[in-house]
Amino acid sequence: MTNSPFGFDTLQIHAGARPDPATGARQTPIYQTTAYVFRDADHAAALFNLQEVGFLYSRLTNPTVAVLQERIATLEGGQGAVCCSSGHAAQIMALFPLMSPGMNVVASTRAYGGTITQFSQTIKRFGWSAKFVDFDDLEAIAAAVDENTRAIFCETIANPGGYITDLDAVAQIADRASIPLIVDNTSATPYLCRPFEHGASIVVHSTTKYLTGNGTVTGGAVVDSGTFDWSATDKFPSLSQPEPAYHGLKFHETFGPLAFTLHGIAIGLRDLGMTMNPQAAHYTLMGIETLSLRMQRHVENAIRIAEWLETDPRIEKVTYAGLPSSPYFKRMERICPNGAGALFTVAVKGGFDACVRLVDSLQIFSHVANLGDARSLIIHPASTTHRQLEPDQLEAAGAAPNVVRLSIGIEDAQDLINDLDQALTQATS
Ligand SMILES: *Cc1c(COP(=O)(O)O)cnc(C)c1O
Repeated sequence: MTNSPFGFDTLQIHAGARPDPATGARQTPIYQTTAYVFRDADHAAALFNLQEVGFLYSRLTNPTVAVLQERIATLEGGQGAVCCSSGHAAQIMALFPLMSPGMNVVASTRAYGGTITQFSQTIKRFGWSAKFVDFDDLEAIAAAVDENTRAIFCETIANPGGYITDLDAVAQIADRASIPLIVDNTSATPYLCRPFEHGASIVVHSTTKYLTGNGTVTGGAVVDSGTFDWSATDKFPSLSQPEPAYHGLKFHETFGPLAFTLHGIAIGLRDLGMTMNPQAAHYTLMGIETLSLRMQRHVENAIRIAEWLETDPRIEKVTYAGLPSSPYFKRMERICPNGAGALFTVAVKGGFDACVRLVDSLQIFSHVANLGDARSLIIHPASTTHRQLEPDQLEAAGAAPNVVRLSIGIEDAQDLINDLDQALTQATS
C-alpha cells in the first residue's frame, strides 16, 4: 500500500487481479483445478527447483488464491502473503519458519481464546512453547524475551475486551532482540490498522472474519513486510542457511524480501498442507471488495450502540476502545485512527442468569461462536467458549459470568438497539 499510487478503496477491488488472460473474464475466475500442464520437461524442472515461479500443484499455488494473496499483501503494505485454510493454520504457518524444538514465542495474555489453547497446549507437541505476558507491561515483555525467543505475538485489537496494543512500543522490544513482531490483525483489518506502519514484521489474519465478512468460509493469511533481516543473526537458520530439500538453496540470500513468503509456499504449504482452496479464496475476494465500506458501518454502529449501552441502567460496564471513557481511547486514535472495530464486551446487571436470558431473548443478534460477520452476533463466554475455566481464570480472560461479547454487524443501528432493549428488559426483569 505504501508503494502504491492508489487508495485503499481502489486496491480492495483491483489489487492482484487482471482480466483473465484466456477469456477476458473481468471477475477473477475460480480456477477449480488441482494441477497445471507443464510446457515441457525443462519448464517442470525449473518450477520444481524454484528457478521459475508458476503454477504446478494446488497444494502450493493456485491462480484464484494467488489473487487473494496479492490483494491482502497490498492492503497491508507487505511484500507478499500466503493464504491458508484457517486463521489458526496461518498462526502455525507464521511460526513454522522461525521456530524449532526448544524455542519459544512471547505472547499476549489477551489473545483470542483459541490462540491461548493453540500456544499453551498444542505447539508443545512440536517442542515449541509460549510465554504469556500482560502486554500493557512493556518491562514484563522485555524480561520474558530470552535467547530462545524467536517471535513476539499479539493482536492489534484484542478479542474481546476492547484492548488496543501499543504496537510501536512492542515492536521496539522485538527490534532490540533481533526477532520479528507478529501481529494478528483480524479484528482491526488493514482498513483500521496497518501493523507494518507500527513496526511489525509479520501480520496474520483469520480471513474467516471481516475480510470475508459474510460468514461463509474459514481461511487465513500470513503477510510479510519483507523488511526483517533474517541473516543478521544465526537465529533463523530455515531462512538464512542452506535448505536441504532444495539442494542447499538459501531462502534469504536468494529471494531477499520475498524469502519468508516463498518459504511459506515452498516448505510450509508443501509439507504442512494447510492450503486455502480456490472456492474459499473466491468468497473472500467477493467480501474484500467492500471491506472499507463495511468497516466504516461496523465502527459507526458499534460507537452508537456502545454509547447507548453505556448510559443504560441495566448495564454495569462497556469495554469498547472507541468510547472516550475507555482507558485505550487515546491509544486507539494513534494505532487505529479509522476506529476501534466492532467487537466489545458488556457487563450486565443480574450476572450469569441475566446474560443467558439476554442471549436467548435477542431476535436480530445470533448466538454463535464467530465474529466479524455482516450480521450482529453475541456470545456469553462463561456458559460457552470459556465454560471450562475457573472463576479467577474467567475474570482474567475478561469473561466474567456477567459478561457478554457483541460483534456488531452492519444492520440498521436503531433496529439493533431496539433488539438489545427488548432483550435486556426480559433479561433483567
Ligand atoms: C477467529 C480468530 C482466529 C482463528 O481463526 P480461524 O479462522 O477460526 O482459525 C485467530 N485470531 C483471531 C483474533 C480470531 O478472531
